[in-house]
Amino acid sequence: MTFLIANWKMNPQTTREARVLFEEIIDVGRLKNIETVICPPFPFLSIFGSPKSIRLGSQDIFWEAQGPYTGQVSGKMLKDLGCDYVILGHSERRQYAGESDEIINAKLKMALKCGLAPILCIGERAGEEMGEVLAAQLNGCLKDISKTEIQDIIFVYEPVWAISSGIVGTGKPCLPDDALSAGLFMKKIITGLYGRFLAEKTAIIYGGSVDSKNAASFIREARMQGVLVGGASLDAEEFSKIADSLNNLT
Ligand code: PEP
Repeated sequence: MTFLIANWKMNPQTTREARVLFEEIIDVGRLKNIETVICPPFPFLSIFGSPKSIRLGSQDIFWEAQGPYTGQVSGKMLKDLGCDYVILGHSERRQYAGESDEIINAKLKMALKCGLAPILCIGERAGEEMGEVLAAQLNGCLKDISKTEIQDIIFVYEPVWAISSGIVGTGKPCLPDDALSAGLFMKKIITGLYGRFLAEKTAIIYGGSVDSKNAASFIREARMQGVLVGGASLDAEEFSKIADSLNNLT
């Protein structure tokens, strides 16, 4: 199964635009070998009904189950809205919401408890050493996560410098060879934590300036199990082309 995950971030601005975009991309769900997951902003999660062919994901979750936490959204609310996935550890949340590995770990535990599959993003910033950052983030985010739970996590290698629209991003995607090295390094760390058998089964996907021209190379050459798409997921035609390029590989 190849994952195609759309991170809409804080876009679009109106319910009407969100509906139009969703209607334009819903056809992607017909591709049988691809698990398409759309992660819109919270306010739009309820407007798509319960689509059969496309899965819904949230861009965040709170680490407590319920109570006096102004502005937060619980896992149970997300499940109730039809979510199956939740993005965690994204560099923009680390940067703008001050999320640490410890916070991400707490959110990861809550997501798993609520039956939401975490899409766990990790990756180095420009100038940082890839291996050092990946090891630290994996060790921190996976603290006390069991061998059973690890199997529900989708890991994303997302080098922060490769993100297309961020202030810190260069907009240059990672080379497939470098993504391959990062993926193998992640498997090595996961092997150390959970053993080889589980590490081999772990899904690792790539994120950062993915478009219809480069998406397939991350599957073919970097042995990734899918892609996380930000900017290009807001362009229905481009997103559909990405989906077709992945589907043609299977
Ligand atoms: C992201 O930030 O999760 C992402 C994939 O962004 P982009 O595709 O725009 O680089």
